[in-house]
Amino acid sequence: RNLTKHFSGGRESLFGKKRVVRAVDGVSFDIAKGETLGVVGESGCGKSTTARLLMHLMPLDAGEMIYDGNKVGPDLSLRELRRRMQMVFQDSYASLNPRLTIEDSIAFGPKVHGVDDGAARLLARDLLVKVGLDANRFANRYPHELSGGQRQRVNIARALALSPRLVILDEAVSALDKSVEAQVLNLLNDLKREFGLTYLFISHDLNVVRYISDRVLVMYLGEVVEIGPVEELWNSPRHPYTTALFAAMPTLDPDRRTTEAPIAGDPPNPINPPSGCRFHTRCPFAEAVCSATTPALYAVGPAHQAACHMAIPGSGHSKAPKEAMA
Ligand code: SF4
Ligand code: MG
Repeated sequence: RNLTKHFSGGRESLFGKKRVVRAVDGVSFDIAKGETLGVVGESGCGKSTTARLLMHLMPLDAGEMIYDGNKVGPDLSLRELRRRMQMVFQDSYASLNPRLTIEDSIAFGPKVHGVDDGAARLLARDLLVKVGLDANRFANRYPHELSGGQRQRVNIARALALSPRLVILDEAVSALDKSVEAQVLNLLNDLKREFGLTYLFISHDLNVVRYISDRVLVMYLGEVVEIGPVEELWNSPRHPYTTALFAAMPTLDPDRRTTEAPIAGDPPNPINPPSGCRFHTRCPFAEAVCSATTPALYAVGPAHQAACHMAIPGSGHSKAPKEAMA
């Protein structure tokens, strides 16, 4: 609820005012047990910071996280949260200690949480098999002896070693070759079924997000602009940013995988975001109300919300739906 993180960006000039980067600015959403929620948006929109805030890898400036009805902090300790929630990062090599064998890496977390050495090693070998690696071949190897795809399987095994229920995947398949990526995506789906997992799946690759997600959250400059069921979002997006993002999506050319700059103009500087709707400097439908008033997330379907004045009756935008007459 209302996740907020502003970074200090130094001073504009020697005596200038301090700059503040509004990396994540009042982000609220729910994740239901067993679903995969995709998170998309251009680089720098706050996807990864949101993930790190949920993991409590950095302190929140404002907001709170409620896990299974328990507020993280007062009702649920960070130690307990980290057992129930794990994260897999893009860089498969940096995530593993190069001096530990694969088995030691996977067994490390359970041992910290009190599992004895023998049981932790058995669990590690079991998990290697679950992620599709031959335990006898891989248990005693070191990270540098593995391919990127194999290492990412190890990272997934390591994340699962504490029996988490929520796994955050931040660009977890983005560094892999296309064919390996497909295998790891299928593995993630299999593991989700087998272990009853819930995923928060962050990616700049919209094709991948569409494939794996049940619902998708779209972020722009630190805010949620749209959230809804994946096919509904794809077929009838209600926020012009979502429309533009999907329109720029490469479909036929497998080599064009990036959507880093799909929309006219660069994203404005998050140090000084535009007033009102932050997309108004790039939006083809912008009107006076857009720069004057921040549009709230508005229900445009049973499970679909968009933060655009055009979706909100009585907002003052000429394309807004009329208020229902009594
Ligand atoms: Fe465009 Fe206005 Fe909607 Fe923002 S609120 S997306 S500027 S129409
Ligand atoms: Mg990122």
